[in-house]
Order: sequence, then C-alpha cells, then structure tokens
Amino acid sequence: MTATSSNRVALVTGAGRGIGKAIALRLAADGLDVAINDIPANKAIAEQTAEEVRAKGVRSTVALADVSRETDVAGMVEAVAKDLGKLDVMVANAGIANVTSLLEVDVDTWDRIMSVNLRGAFLCYTAAARQMIKQGGGGKIIGAASIVAYRPFALLGPYSASKWGVRGLTQAAAMEWAKHKITVNAYCPGIVGTDMWELIDEKLAKEEGIPQGQAIKKYSEAIALGRVSVPEDVAQFVSYLASPDSDYMTGQSVMIDGGIQFS
Ligand code: NAD
Repeated sequence: MTATSSNRVALVTGAGRGIGKAIALRLAADGLDVAINDIPANKAIAEQTAEEVRAKGVRSTVALADVSRETDVAGMVEAVAKDLGKLDVMVANAGIANVTSLLEVDVDTWDRIMSVNLRGAFLCYTAAARQMIKQGGGGKIIGAASIVAYRPFALLGPYSASKWGVRGLTQAAAMEWAKHKITVNAYCPGIVGTDMWELIDEKLAKEEGIPQGQAIKKYSEAIALGRVSVPEDVAQFVSYLASPDSDYMTGQSVMIDGGIQFS
C-alpha cells in the first residue's frame, strides 16, 4: 500500500498483545490501515503486531506512548495522522488491572489504575475527537470498559471504578460529539484468557486461598455460553463498532461476555 491509500485509518492502543492485538488484526482484515500503540517497554511486541497487520495487505505504523501522559497521547495521534494520513477510528483499549481489597489498596495504586484506565481513555478520546473534527468531522471512538462497569468484582474495586468511569465518559462524549458525526461506544468483555487474567487469577487465588488457575475456573462458571472468552470474540464486536453498520449507535457500553452480566 502507498501513502495515497484511501483506506480508513484506525489506531488501537495497547495493541502489542491480548485483546488490542486481536482488534488490530481484525480491523486490518476488514481493510483498514491500522496504527499500533503500546508502551515503549513493549516496542518489540508492538512491532510484531504491526508486521502481522501489514501481512494482511494494509498499512501500519507503530506509535509508542503511555496513554496516561497527555503529551504522549497528543504526539501519538499527530504521528498517526502524519504517517497514515488521517484518523477515522480510535480504539482506546489499553488498560491495567490490580487485585487488592479496598481497605488495603494504597493511593499510588489507586492513582495508577485511574491514570491508565480512565485518564488514558479521556486523553485518547479527546485527542482523537480533536483530530476528527479538524478533518471535517465523522469518526468512531471506541473504549475498553468491562462487565465490572455494571457490577464490580470484589477485590477489583479501583479497576471496577475506573471502568465504570469509562462508561460515563463514553456517554458524555457521545452527547458532545454527535454534532460532529462522531459516535462513541465501549465494549464490555467478561473473562478473556489474556495475560491480564493470568495476573488476576494469580492474585485472586492467593486472596481467596485457592490454587492458582482455580479463580478463573470459579468465575467462569457464571458464563452462560460455557467457555472463557478469546480476544477474537471481542474483536468481532469492535469490528462492528468501527464499521458504518453501527452509525446509528452512540453512547453505549455493551456486554460481550458470553452471558455473565445482563444490562
Ligand atoms: P493485556 O494486559 O493482555 O494487554 C494490555 C496491553 O496494554 C499490553 O500490551 C500493555 O503493555 C498495554 N498497556 C498497558 N498500559 C499501557 C499504557 N499506559 N499505555 C499504552 N499501553 C499500555 O490486557 P487485555 O486483557 O488484552 O485487556 C485489554 C483491555 O480490555 C483493557 O482495557 C482491559 O481492562 C479490558 N478488559 C479485559 C478483560 C479480560 O478479561 N482480559 C475483561 C474486561 C476488560
């Protein structure tokens, strides 16, 4: 593909692995050019995702940035618009989890969770909206919420609150940017077998005094469809949110969890 490609352009944050990587590859398969973000420490896996995106016949670029830092996010969006020509779809996917009881969590941990998950979504949403408005309007902004944005998990209090915040932010942004023809929606995965759940399982199992690997098993019993999610389950739904098929939908945070939580 050349610099004159007429493809739509997406940027996926935290796309070096897990759900973000699956979303990047799915959007590439859908024919979008896809920019890959991750933190500088994960440059190698970000470049690997970009290679796999290019192998699908579309363009890619890597924009390393910490989504919790305002200047990083502004620079990331600017670099993507320069490298790939514009920005049509922002997927604010990057997030971190922490398993600690509310009475034990320290303020620094609280701040770190909020700064990546909620401030990061705010910074990505607004930087993308500014770029889309500059281009003349129109665009898709998509955030990573979670089923815990509707019903928290005990021991995941700060994480749950941050995702609840993403749901509120998504509604506010949808209201403010509808006049620019920008839709804003979020996806709410349940239990997806990624590195994040490995960490959650390890910590939850320890807190609950059960063997490692048993926490994910215990929580998975609540899944109506009877299996733990894979990242591709989420990517298929994000493909819809990124496509014109979802043009009449905005402000929604939708469960894609195999039937754990019902809104
Ligand atoms: P993961 O930990 O496997 O991958 C997250 C990626 O984001 C990593 O590559 C990481 O380096 C990157 N990242 C972390 N902090 C970043 C930052 N400050 N700036 C840029 N990149 C950063 O996680 P995942 O399971 O793929 O989750 C992706 C998103 O989906 C997260 O927002 C998560 O909260 C949400 N989610 C996951 C699950 C699940 O079960 N795994 C469920 C609900 C919601």
